[in-house]
Amino acid sequence: MQVPSQMYIDGRWVAAESSETMSVLNPASQEIVATVPKGGREDARKAIDSAVEAKVRAESMTAYERSTILLKVAHLLEQNGQEMAMLITKNVGKPITDSEAETARGVVTLTFASEEAKRIYGQTIPLDSHQFPPGNQNRLGFTIREPIGVVGAISPFNFPLNLLLHKVAPALAAGNTVVVKPPSDGPLPALMVAKLFEEAGLPRGILNVVLGPGGEVGDEIITSAKIDAISFTGDTETGRTIAEKGARTNKKMILELGGHNPLIVLDDAKVVNAVSSALAGTFAYAGQVCTATRRIILSERIKDRFLTQFEQAVGTLKVGDPMDRTTSVGPVINVRSLQKIDDLVKDASGKGAKIRMGGSRMSYGELAQGNYYAPTILDGVVGGMGIAQTEVFGPVSAIMEASNDEEAIEMANNTIYGLQASIYTSDLARGIRVAKRIKAGGVMINDRTNLRWDNAPFGGIKRSGMGREGVSLAIGELTEIKFIVANIAE
Ligand code: NAD
Repeated sequence: MQVPSQMYIDGRWVAAESSETMSVLNPASQEIVATVPKGGREDARKAIDSAVEAKVRAESMTAYERSTILLKVAHLLEQNGQEMAMLITKNVGKPITDSEAETARGVVTLTFASEEAKRIYGQTIPLDSHQFPPGNQNRLGFTIREPIGVVGAISPFNFPLNLLLHKVAPALAAGNTVVVKPPSDGPLPALMVAKLFEEAGLPRGILNVVLGPGGEVGDEIITSAKIDAISFTGDTETGRTIAEKGARTNKKMILELGGHNPLIVLDDAKVVNAVSSALAGTFAYAGQVCTATRRIILSERIKDRFLTQFEQAVGTLKVGDPMDRTTSVGPVINVRSLQKIDDLVKDASGKGAKIRMGGSRMSYGELAQGNYYAPTILDGVVGGMGIAQTEVFGPVSAIMEASNDEEAIEMANNTIYGLQASIYTSDLARGIRVAKRIKAGGVMINDRTNLRWDNAPFGGIKRSGMGREGVSLAIGELTEIKFIVANIAE
């Protein structure tokens, strides 16, 4: 299937009104992978108008029809899976095996959405349980769920396919129309998604994809009075701006933002398991995962044992070309990100943290062209350091030490974030007691921080977000409850 290189508005593949274009770079080589339109406010307005006009078409589709289209797209994605995975890798530098996994997850997300489209249930409400107003024995009350309207879906670069599908698929399952704004660093999978929906027969205007800068295209979507809900995934600071602006038109907001996810290893933990969890949690996709393990809080009694094994494990990671199937750590997305990671590492080391491994950009040999940062272990991190407070979107492990459970909990909660957390212990009851006190949307016991199930609740508290994803929950967020009462007195 040919990868589209135009925007998808009102069922047509179009250039930007301004005719401007932008280059999409491969983070592993800095080569231009594609040239795509650089849309602006006018393009966003056209996409929004198209989505508004398409509402009647979306609303006239039955749940069965919506479900069938979603399933068809799932099949098409499966058929084009290898192509999609290669596209993800070329576009955002994700190791190919991870891109394959993301594509397979995309099929699952679409399949759940197809199933859930058939289960958008209401409730009957026993009004005769109320004393007032009189006559309730003759009133029948029930709810139905209606589409919220036009959904603005703004997505990040790090899972350019699956996080987009976590917005688009539930929104369409519920009968909404959608305007997508993918990240400028990773727009190509979104165009492929639009192509698959077109091929599956989704009527014109129900799904639109506009490319361009967040501050223009994204801003137009957020501030437009014609958009009913925003489903945003991205940085906490961007989310705050969006929440403020969106509130002016009273939009529904679902915000999936940054995290600073702690992994707590208690003194009775199976250290070998905690080490493999820390390895996968910290370094998968070079740490560019919202649920990545950012801080490892070690009980002082097992710290040395853990670090000896962890260092050995990190030393086995193969950094390199993401197209190589044996690569475990690829490049980070862009030079700006490299600089931010390096600044945070240098700041921590300047304030007393010890760099046990890595700690710099890898700019030699074959890696010189790409945005590679060495897998890094920083020991002796304390709460006041920037690295313990700011989300570092890179392959960096911040090691902290706690003398008891109470201190570990306090450290874990000592950030503005609250996305996910992990606890390792051999005592399940102790693990649950600690889990209950961790301020996060999700807590794993004896498992990795970076886990998500497509139809399970997912989302953060504090500055990590608001609202929940997971296909059926997202459908709940993207529908309105209507309460209907029929008086059946003769
Ligand atoms: P980002 O905030 O820079 O960009 C996300 C999207 O917002 C992009 O499409 C961007 O163009 C758009 N945008 C930027 N400024 C905007 C503005 N002013 N108005 C409207 N739109 C704007 O995030 P990113 O760097 O692409 O992604 C990484 C971040 O996303 C990390 O913080 C990560 O933790 C977070 N993330 C969160 C989750 C989650 O589910 N909680 C999942 C993945 C990533």
